[in-house]
Amino acid sequence: MRILLHRGDLPADVALGPVLAIDSETMGLDPFRDRLCLVQLTDGEGTVHLVRIEPGQKVAPRLALALADPDRLKILHFARFDLAMLRHRLGIDCRPVWCTKIASKLARTYTDRHGLKDLCRELLGVELSKQEQSSDWGAEELNEAQLRYAASDVVHLHALKEKLEAMLEREGRLALAEACMAFLPTRVALDLEGFAALDPFAH
Ligand code: MN
Repeated sequence: MRILLHRGDLPADVALGPVLAIDSETMGLDPFRDRLCLVQLTDGEGTVHLVRIEPGQKVAPRLALALADPDRLKILHFARFDLAMLRHRLGIDCRPVWCTKIASKLARTYTDRHGLKDLCRELLGVELSKQEQSSDWGAEELNEAQLRYAASDVVHLHALKEKLEAMLEREGRLALAEACMAFLPTRVALDLEGFAALDPFAH
């Protein structure tokens, strides 16, 4: 695995495949309060791109082109959070998306453990370290452990999608799961309009 660190945007000459795994690191969990610090991206062909987002940065045109490309599927784990961050901080409308957390919830009904670490362990036999998860992603210089952690959060998403897709297919729930994923942009729009706590389908 090759890790490339970029400042502010993807380089102009980057060639990406049709299915991208995406993750982001932030200063915290509130898109309104907390800054987006890093966007990780890989097409599953061995290179992980890490894009540093500078304080006050409002656009990343080449990253936006890749993430909003209707012909490129984006795989994320708990896409709802990253989509809200990308939308609010960089104005990026990331779609179409495939969320491994939604897939897991609808496929793995024998457990309530749907974290990325749980999925990697059970479906891929990979132990993911979550040690750097709550480190300072806004630091001027990210350390080696942070770079490796950031990359490890996207490198398994293609394989996870394959496993989860097969499970959903087997259980007859693939179409239902993909319909939920198609609703994500609307869910994120609600979150950003102040309706994060509202479930419009609840009684
Ligand atoms: Mn992450």
